[in-house]
Amino acid sequence: MRALCVFALLGLFAGSSDARPGGGQSYRSSGSRSSGSSSFSHSSGSSHSFSSSGGGGDWEGDGNGPLVALCFALVVGFIVYWGIKRTRGAQARAAVEEEQQVKGEGLAALHAVDPAFDENAFAARVRDLVTRVNNAWVEGKMDAARRFISDGVYVRFATQLRLLKARGIRNAMADAKVLSAQILAAEGDPLWDTVHVKISAQARDADVAATLSTADAVAAARKSSLNAYQEVWSFVRRRGKSSASAGRVQEGKCPSCGAELPASEVVRCQYCKALTNSGEHDWVLAEITQPEEWSPDGIPVIDGLPELRARDAMVSVQALEDRASVVFWKWIDARVTGERKRLERFCRAEGVPAAPRADLSQVAVGAAEVTHIEPPQDGYDRVHVDITWSAATNGGEPDNMTHTVTLARAQTAQSLRGLSSLDCPHCGGALAESDSISCQYCGTALTGGRDEWALEAVEES
Ligand SMILES: [Zn+2]
Ligand SMILES: [Zn+2]
Repeated sequence: MRALCVFALLGLFAGSSDARPGGGQSYRSSGSRSSGSSSFSHSSGSSHSFSSSGGGGDWEGDGNGPLVALCFALVVGFIVYWGIKRTRGAQARAAVEEEQQVKGEGLAALHAVDPAFDENAFAARVRDLVTRVNNAWVEGKMDAARRFISDGVYVRFATQLRLLKARGIRNAMADAKVLSAQILAAEGDPLWDTVHVKISAQARDADVAATLSTADAVAAARKSSLNAYQEVWSFVRRRGKSSASAGRVQEGKCPSCGAELPASEVVRCQYCKALTNSGEHDWVLAEITQPEEWSPDGIPVIDGLPELRARDAMVSVQALEDRASVVFWKWIDARVTGERKRLERFCRAEGVPAAPRADLSQVAVGAAEVTHIEPPQDGYDRVHVDITWSAATNGGEPDNMTHTVTLARAQTAQSLRGLSSLDCPHCGGALAESDSISCQYCGTALTGGRDEWALEAVEES
């Protein structure tokens, strides 16, 4: 109990900082996932600091009446202080909940389909990957990390970098260190396996003028406080692939045929045409979830998924969430910059949905989850994905929001390319940076939802 109070007080005076890759420092949660021993509301954005330091959080039953009252007053004071201070950056971050049984059962199931899966080797590769993503982020270009991350994660980082740049700043990091990467859970369906990894890391970071040199930016970051944080990084791979050839991409080789890949951001092997970041051949980083939104509850039942899968055997929830993430970030980009050109090619109809202009900063996505799939109507299938996110409006304090993204795709289309959704669905032309609404190589229209899930609506829920 005493430790708990001290921790709460420390939280008051910890230094503030800004974005790191993923924007987690700025993330504000809604409290919708409050569970277990953390009985405090998540609305302060720091509630887990109490339960995590309290070791089980049984704070009402220890018989220390006056001490409890004092602590309660301090805690209430802390929450009020948070509300008033409205500082940027979360000081004492939430911790990730762990569930040993979920982990054990999931890993056993994964071993059954992939006996070569090695927990330690996997964790070591993830640590390396986190470092590479951090380095790319600091460089201000995600190219060097693109091969290992899904299109959704790539767009998220690239958009965040662009929004920072638009405000004349860049995010610098120093003393970044991955403290541990521990497998939290594994889950699978007949088509895809997913492994969730708890990343514990620390870094100093600061937002500096975009004009500063990298050396000066890092020197500025070095003056910031050292902040520890946790996130859940989720990796997806086509079921049936063996870990015997895992990690090739990190060695600069094609995950499918093993050929050397050129030293660039290219994600398609020139020999066998495999996409390195589709999840079809090796694990790919498909989602980053903030601790407040992490739930070890296992795979939810999704209405309409079995019906869609009966018509499109390869459809995957992971790919749908990745696609929703891509279009959501494009929508945020359009709202902040007032330019729809990067959004348009992902829309079903030109000019729809509206992207009302807003001065958003510190944008961070907590989670993306498919909620249900509608029966086909007017020739289209429709998927609803809830995006839980937070952002500051007009330079204020970040608020938590949930928006439902509706994706539509022609009923006759098939899912063919795993998590890859930026390149041309017809000819495979590299279109990651293209704003054109048709493929520059083969002329195929990218809008309309004929081949790919297209954005039809975004609504606050
Ligand atoms: Zn190849
Ligand atoms: Zn094309």
